Amino acid sequence: MRLGRIASPDGVAFVSIEEQDGVLVAKEIAEHPFGTPTFTGRTWPLADVRLLAPILASKVICIGKNYAAHAAEMGGEAPADPVIFIKPNTSIIGPEVSIVRPPSSQRVDYEGELAVVIGKPCKDVPAAKAASVILGYTIANDVTARDHQQADGQWTRGKGYDTFCPLGPWIDTEFDPADAELTTQLDGETKQHSRTSLMIHDIGKIIEWISRVMTLLPGDVILTGTPEGVGPMTAGQRVSVTISGLGTLSNPVMDKA
Ligand code: MG
Repeated sequence: MRLGRIASPDGVAFVSIEEQDGVLVAKEIAEHPFGTPTFTGRTWPLADVRLLAPILASKVICIGKNYAAHAAEMGGEAPADPVIFIKPNTSIIGPEVSIVRPPSSQRVDYEGELAVVIGKPCKDVPAAKAASVILGYTIANDVTARDHQQADGQWTRGKGYDTFCPLGPWIDTEFDPADAELTTQLDGETKQHSRTSLMIHDIGKIIEWISRVMTLLPGDVILTGTPEGVGPMTAGQRVSVTISGLGTLSNPVMDKA
């Protein structure tokens, strides 16, 4: 199932995105997308609605340096244990919403990543049982003010600006994360091209590691790290992250007015 959120005629609706008679439609979910959804009976052609970020997260937890080639381009080796940090949930935006570069930064980078969405409250989840707490998968861009990240010695400012966490276009509950192709394009030019099979710590290990520290809640999002090829974006450009079998998350870039 593909789960999304849309701006509906009377507010915001959770939807299931399905094909009907060869057309993609958004079917309104009655309550929430966790568990087995029930439907209101209202349906819109997907082309007629605006997709929002597919979930409201209480927190976004990210893994740093989870691909060896990216750790190398950042001038180091990948640490033996996962390194985690948090992006505020106020950094989340949906597809087609502008990433806003703050005037204080001279370098704002894209980082295309596979994102995991948690489906139930959980703590101390063993890696072997991680699948049971996952709602599904979506695409993220871990936008980073690289100069702030490097100047501060920790990452809250560099990773935390409003609009620095594009998510979408939907959550796929049947996606297989083992070996998907990840591509990031800037104005149509391929900048990152890798496979999720090259992650150092797999998703089971990541959920075990994070849930040993903090309780995970339904809707929480985990960014699994970016491969090599990160680089800067400037105003007027468009960044698109594609994961095979999942879809494409595309956002324009602008400077703060
Ligand atoms: Mg990242």
